[in-house]
Amino acid sequence: MKAGKDTLKEYKKLRDFSETPEPEGRVRKTSKKRFVIHEHHASHLHWDLRLEMEGVLKSWAVPKGPPENPGIKRLAVQTEDHPVDYIDFEGIIPEGYYGAGTVKIWDNGPFELLEMKKEREIKFSLAGKRLKGTYYLLKFREGRNWLFFKGKE
Ligand code: MN
Repeated sequence: MKAGKDTLKEYKKLRDFSETPEPEGRVRKTSKKRFVIHEHHASHLHWDLRLEMEGVLKSWAVPKGPPENPGIKRLAVQTEDHPVDYIDFEGIIPEGYYGAGTVKIWDNGPFELLEMKKEREIKFSLAGKRLKGTYYLLKFREGRNWLFFKGKE
């Protein structure tokens, strides 16, 4: 999660902006801290958790859906950083392009970073309509896999 370089390089490389309705965007530091969860009907239905941090949306694909209650641990696979402008995105990515399918907002709202340890343990709070409270993301030793779960009240 290094700042200062173009962390959207991978995002742009994967997309053809003359074909997809997704925003091209750029790294843009804002004073707001928001999150969004997209419900993404791609080849496999999944949910995308995105946290506004470091001028981009840090993103994770959650195959089984976000945990709404404590005690549920979900795999979250980190994906490419998305531009901040993606926070409002809803639309249909056309057939044959990266992420083809319908993208809808499943939940959104304020996000607060509470603690970050060694870029592999993130404690944060969400104040959405569906997800509210303290959440954790813990990175596995290797690869892009994380565990995503809700803290006990
Ligand atoms: Mn997705």
